[in-house]
Amino acid sequence: MTNKRLHVDALVVGGGIAGMQTSLDLGDQGYQVALVEKTASIGGNMVQLSKVFPTLDCASCITTPKMSSVHHHDNIKLLTSSEVQKVTPHGDGFIAEVLLKPTYVNNDTCTGCQKCEEACPVDILDEYDYGFNARRAAYIPFPTAIPYTAVIDMDHCIFCGQCIKACPVPDCIDFNMQPEVIEIETSAIVISTGFKVTPYDAKEEYGAGKFRNVIDGLMMERLLAPTGPYGHVLRPSDGKLPDSIAYVQCAGSRDLTLGVPYCSRVCCMYAIKQAMLLAGALPMADITIYYMDIRTFGKQYEQFYQNAKAMGIEFVKAKVARITEVENQDLNVRVELIDENSQVVERHHDLVVLSVGMLPNYDPQAVFSIDIAEDKFVETPYYHNSPAATTRPGIFAAGTAAGPMDIVDTIVTAGSAAADVAAYIQSHNGHKAETAVETQTTVAERSVDHD
Ligand SMILES: Cc1cc2nc3c(=O)[nH]c(=O)nc-3n(C[C@H](O)[C@H](O)[C@H](O)COP(=O)(O)OP(=O)(O)OC[C@H]3O[C@@H](n4cnc5c(N)ncnc54)[C@H](O)[C@@H]3O)c2cc1C
Repeated sequence: MTNKRLHVDALVVGGGIAGMQTSLDLGDQGYQVALVEKTASIGGNMVQLSKVFPTLDCASCITTPKMSSVHHHDNIKLLTSSEVQKVTPHGDGFIAEVLLKPTYVNNDTCTGCQKCEEACPVDILDEYDYGFNARRAAYIPFPTAIPYTAVIDMDHCIFCGQCIKACPVPDCIDFNMQPEVIEIETSAIVISTGFKVTPYDAKEEYGAGKFRNVIDGLMMERLLAPTGPYGHVLRPSDGKLPDSIAYVQCAGSRDLTLGVPYCSRVCCMYAIKQAMLLAGALPMADITIYYMDIRTFGKQYEQFYQNAKAMGIEFVKAKVARITEVENQDLNVRVELIDENSQVVERHHDLVVLSVGMLPNYDPQAVFSIDIAEDKFVETPYYHNSPAATTRPGIFAAGTAAGPMDIVDTIVTAGSAAADVAAYIQSHNGHKAETAVETQTTVAERSVDHD
C-alpha cells in the first residue's frame, strides 16, 4: 500500500478530448487537477481520426495542441498508464486509490530518441493503426504521443536486452519496474472514459473479422489519415486501390437483437465525411452509402450531406441483410431496398465499411458507485438542468462516457462538467487547493517521489 498522497481539487478519469478539455477548463481557473489516463498517452479516439466533420479540419491539428497544453499546464498533473482502483468518501470529497502501471521506461529520463524502438527485433500488429501496420515491443505509442516517451510491451518482449544496449540514458529502461499505488485526495471527480467501437459489435451476417475487406469506420479513419499506415487508401486483403466502396449504416446500433437500440449519433456524419474524403482520394471509385435514415442534426450538418450528394456519392435507402465474400475477396452485399416494392438486390463492392455503433468503454459502477443508464453509459439523471451530474454528488461525467456524441457536444459537456465541478467545490468547501505539488509529493507525470 502507498504512503503517497496527492491533494487536488478535481480528479479527471480518462484523457480523451473530453477529459483534456475538462482539465484545461478547470486548470485555467486555478483549480488543481489530476488527470488519470489508462493508456500510455492522452488523446483518446480523436487522435486517430483523419479530418473532422463538418469543417474537414485536420483532427490532430485540434487535438495535439490540447494534449500539449495539458502536459505543460502548471495546474494539471498527468498520470498516464494509470487506473483508479478504489474510491472512498473523505470529508466533503473523496480519496481515490490510483494504480500506476509499470511502463519499464523512466518517463523522467526518456528523451523519446526511439533508439530502443529501432533496436527492438520484435514486430507486432500496431493497435494504433488497427493492425494495418506493425510496431515494436519497445515503442512510442504514436507520433504525437504525450508524454513522448517509450514503453515496453511486456506481453511481447523477448528480453533480448537490445533496447537497454541501445538506450543512451543509463538506467532509463528498467525491466524490474514495479506497479505503484498512490492516493489522490480530491473534492470532485469527472468520469470521461469515452467510447469504443469494434467491428465485432456489428451483425454477424456482415462478416466483420471474417472477411478482410470488411472494416469499420475507425479503421477507415486510419486509412484516410495523412499519418496513416500506407499513405493511400488501400484495401486490406491485397493492397489494391478500391474501385467500389460501400458504407453500411446502423451496422451495430438501432438494433435490439444486438442489445444496442440507440442511435450512435455520429455514424451518418462520419460516413458522409469519409465518403467525401474518399471521393477526393480515389476520384475513379464509386461510393455508396446504404442507410435507413440520415440524421444530420448539427450546425451545418444538413448542408454537408447535400454537398456529398452533389459530389456524386450514392445514397441508397435500404437494409443490408447479408454480406458474402466472392472471388478476389470482393464482397456481395444483399440489400432490401426501402421503397414501395421492398425489392431485394445484390450489389458488388470491393471494400465495405461498417458504421458500427458506439459502446461505453468502461463500467464505473464498482469503483465509483455511480449508476449506469439502460444503454450502459453513465446515468446523468438531471440532464436538463445539470447535464454532467451523475447519481452521486461530487462525481460528474463528460463526453461520450455519458452517451454517444460528436466532438462539438463532447467539448460542450466537458465545459459543463468543469463548471459543475467549480460550483460544487465552491458550495462545499469553498476553496481551491493551493498547489497540488506543495501539499504532498511531486507527481510529475509518472515520476512519483517516495516519501
Ligand atoms: C469512425 C468515427 C469517426 C468520427 N469522426 C468524427 C468527426 O469527424 N467529427 C466529430 O465531431 N466527431 C467524430 N467522431 C466522434 C468523436 O470521436 C468523439 O465524439 C470523441 O472522440 C469523444 O471523445 P471522448 O473524450 O468522450 O472519448 P474517447 O476519445 O474515447 O476518450 C476516452 C479516454 O478515456 C480513457 N479511458 C477509458 N477508460 C479509462 C479508465 N478506466 N481509466 C482511465 N482512462 C480511461 C481512454 O483510454 C481514452 O483515452 C467520430 C467517431 C468515430 C467512431
